[in-house]
Amino acid sequence: MPFMKFYPLTFILLFFALQNAPAQTPPSQPKLIVGIVVDQMRYDFLYRYQAKYVPGGFKRLLGEGFSCESAHYNYVPTYTAPGHAAIYTGATPSVTGIIGNEWWDPEWRAHRYVTTDTRYKTVGSPNVKVGQHSPSVLLSSTITDELRLSNNFKSKVVGVCLKDRASILPAGHIPNACYWFDDATGNWITSTYYPDSMGLPQWVQDFNARRLPDAYLSKPWTTDSTLHYDESFADWDKYNDGDYTSLFKGKSMPYDLPAMKKAGGYGVLRFTPYGNSLTLDFAIDAVNKMQLGADDSPDFLCISFSSTDYCAHQFGIHGEEMEDTYLRLDRDIARFLNFLDKKFGKNNVLVFLTADHGGGETPVHLEDLRIPSGVFPESGLEDILEKALAAALGMPGNYISEVGNQQIWLNWDAISDLDLDTDKMASVIIDYLKSQPGVYDAFTREELMALPAEYPFAAETRRGIHPRRSGDIIFQLDPAWHSDDKFFGKGGTTHGSSYAYDTHVPLLWYGWNIPHGASFAPVDIIDIAPTLAAMLRITEPNGTQGKVIGALVK
Ligand SMILES: [Zn+2]
Repeated sequence: MPFMKFYPLTFILLFFALQNAPAQTPPSQPKLIVGIVVDQMRYDFLYRYQAKYVPGGFKRLLGEGFSCESAHYNYVPTYTAPGHAAIYTGATPSVTGIIGNEWWDPEWRAHRYVTTDTRYKTVGSPNVKVGQHSPSVLLSSTITDELRLSNNFKSKVVGVCLKDRASILPAGHIPNACYWFDDATGNWITSTYYPDSMGLPQWVQDFNARRLPDAYLSKPWTTDSTLHYDESFADWDKYNDGDYTSLFKGKSMPYDLPAMKKAGGYGVLRFTPYGNSLTLDFAIDAVNKMQLGADDSPDFLCISFSSTDYCAHQFGIHGEEMEDTYLRLDRDIARFLNFLDKKFGKNNVLVFLTADHGGGETPVHLEDLRIPSGVFPESGLEDILEKALAAALGMPGNYISEVGNQQIWLNWDAISDLDLDTDKMASVIIDYLKSQPGVYDAFTREELMALPAEYPFAAETRRGIHPRRSGDIIFQLDPAWHSDDKFFGKGGTTHGSSYAYDTHVPLLWYGWNIPHGASFAPVDIIDIAPTLAAMLRITEPNGTQGKVIGALVK
């Protein structure tokens, strides 16, 4: 009777196979997903100020969550718009098309700011331009788009950030709402691109009517007298004069914010830790008033803190302004986690925290320490190259459309009209660049694509190139060299390179289904979106190049 003999065993094996089978039904999902991006947060800021962090902020994320300690950007340029796009699309600029914060747009035949879209109107400010934005420049879908597509738009998605681009790109193409800050009025505003935006919703009008920016700017910005700012360098005042705004020029702590508001308006707020506090105040109101996390479909709040970036640009990374900004952000994060705890419970909210890029040292400071570094005069490069091309081609002309982001866009209208020798033009430009201090190498786009894989940063540079949008000639600078631009000259700092200080950022996970732990296994920032898709069992964004971080997914 072989059948009788084997039947119980078969039954038992089948029973265990079913017990151990992968999930056949959708797992439970979190009520709310919160993506926190801290603009220009270097990895080391997690630890540098830790002695003064409170238990409930960054230390809680580290102590109860999971830290990817070796998370890097894998492309250049490491700027805000490409960074936010990469986090939420799982793709690099080569696919998202977000090749910078601004660039020469060959289709427009004009300079473009990333999210500018004049088909739409400003909602919430008499300033007509500040709301003329949309995500249409972003060529791939976001994890937030995919979440909405996965469940017949039952999930709500909201973007909140002082910066338009860092609110718009994370929230994707089909969010419920997206808000950013208007310097002229101190209001949170939006664009007619977004639904129900013929006027601001009542709760946003009510929030704006509370005039919190006036309250934050009603007293001086000073350090906390109960703390020792001993992570900051003494005598930093000679390096803290960045070029992002003239309002802080020649000044130091304590900053007279009421007087500065009088002179410069609400934009002053961006360069203080209170810009982050206001962002959080508004985001908490959005959770409450839009009823995020109230039903079974997970909602997604994309919040980005920009003041860390403005402060680093303006004051550099070793000043007490920077330390104070992170200490106050830490307390704001504690306030936020506490709010989420009370409202939803830790296990119903999935939080991740990362940065859109890191940031460099202040070049003049490194020079004083005899560490090689420098500022490359990129802002004057177009004039110099036009003159060099005129001399080489034997006639003056308008040969270059734009120089920016360590790229040169040739004027293809002039080239075809005059039947110009593009090989000759390229070699004039490349020869000049290679003769300049701080230039590591320069190449045409074709030469870049043909470099061997092991050529330093060839892969990272290629991942930053979009076939229809990027420049014709690309150059790289030495470590600790930065191009100047309208935001950066001598003091303060900037970012944008393929070097670790710009690519290495925190990546923390916390809450729903997140194991406690840490790993130094290398992770790319483009891994965040596919990992979220795996956790939620939904489709990866349509341009995804990243891989699921296996240690995090149950
Ligand atoms: Zn920046």
